[in-house]
Amino acid sequence: MTQRDVRRAIVIGGGIAGPVLGMFLRRIGVEVTIFEAREAPAEQEGAFLGIAPNGMNVLADLGVAEAVQARGAPFVGMRFENARGRRIGEIDQREAARRFGAGLVMIRRGALHAALAEEAVRRGVAIRYGMRLTDVDRSEPRQVVARFGEGGGGGEARGDVLIGCDGFRSRTRACAVPDAPAPGYTGLLDFGGFARCPGAPIEPGWSVMVFGRRAFFGAFAAPDGEIWWFHNGGEPAPGRGAAPGQLRERILALHEGDPGWIADVVRATPEVLGPWPLHDILTMPRWHDGRVCLIGDAAHATTPHAGQGASLAMEDGMLLARCLRDEPDPQQAFAAFERARRPRVEAIVRQARRMGNRKAVAGPVAEWLRDRALPLFLRLGAAAQERAYAYRIDWEARAA
Ligand SMILES: Cc1cc2nc3c(=O)[nH]c(=O)nc-3n(C[C@H](O)[C@H](O)[C@H](O)COP(=O)(O)OP(=O)(O)OC[C@H]3O[C@@H](n4cnc5c(N)ncnc54)[C@H](O)[C@@H]3O)c2cc1C
Repeated sequence: MTQRDVRRAIVIGGGIAGPVLGMFLRRIGVEVTIFEAREAPAEQEGAFLGIAPNGMNVLADLGVAEAVQARGAPFVGMRFENARGRRIGEIDQREAARRFGAGLVMIRRGALHAALAEEAVRRGVAIRYGMRLTDVDRSEPRQVVARFGEGGGGGEARGDVLIGCDGFRSRTRACAVPDAPAPGYTGLLDFGGFARCPGAPIEPGWSVMVFGRRAFFGAFAAPDGEIWWFHNGGEPAPGRGAAPGQLRERILALHEGDPGWIADVVRATPEVLGPWPLHDILTMPRWHDGRVCLIGDAAHATTPHAGQGASLAMEDGMLLARCLRDEPDPQQAFAAFERARRPRVEAIVRQARRMGNRKAVAGPVAEWLRDRALPLFLRLGAAAQERAYAYRIDWEARAA
């Protein structure tokens, strides 16, 4: 069997993993249709995210790094402060481009989706919006059939393989790996926003991360001075609590007594976005079954604390396409993919979970210890971060 035996791929989800995979599949001559549940390209969706050097290197290989950089902003480094505004640690990323071949980029999620979708379409990937996968029929030996809900007109699509890139609540996963654990809620709710707040003490390109008395706050200053911020607060149950109109008041209350600029930023925000309950999947029994494979958050949902979920999704897309190029049949390709990816992604998902746990507020004694131990944690974490950033996929190499 040659690569021509996988001629048609159904990709479910047009977020990050989907378009990146689609572009690499086009490179090996596979016909790709992405089925995306959203009704249309959503430029304004979500808040923002950081793409790490390892993710930017995947985009550079595809020739789309510049398009993404043009819509984003270079990330220079982050400073950590305690609730009194005292600096307790710093990570300087100014050397990242020299050391890892690419620097970090901050970008609004909607802008990233738009850039990836445009580039994918330019390379011949078809994207159909308003198509929500409801079921996967795997009863035929050489084909897989995707079924869609009525919203986008329903219907079905046939392919030689189906790749689930449909995020942490993946319907593909529910269909193909029904014994997979549900993503676990980590106890933190994320909110975010964009604000003009000239008084915020952050230099362009830098982030300031504050371990507040009751919640965590992070803010990035874009080159034009706009502040992109997020808040992580502990909540007993995802989504329960205040109505959207009360979000601002709730966040302000949680940061009472923290450095005053946080409240200024939150007040200056036209619309508070969220909440996003943060989930992860530490491990899964398997990532593939028959002609169906999961990648990105569908296979290994991660919290944002290590800043790697998007970059891992991009790496997955590249490596899976390389496996499909080199392995005789899709099931072997999926097995090779999972073998190669699992140790790396599971280690990073665990690391992100640990980083998130440190954001939880644990009382004055734990805070006192945290303030003193943070520089050590940052030094210890630097090795893991370096491993994450330095990872490169050689497209020309054969899949092992
Ligand atoms: C608040 C927050 C902040 C984050 N910050 C960062 C960060 O700074 N850096 C980082 O690297 N990662 C970050 N992450 C994680 C990152 O967003 C994910 O790891 C990444 O988006 C995974 O990409 P994906 O393509 O697998 O899934 P997604 O980006 O979730 O895309 C899934 C797509 O599938 C579609 N879909 C879902 N169900 C269906 C269906 N049934 N049929 C068809 N389509 C469907 C969705 O509409 C969506 O477009 C953050 C996550 C959150 C929640």
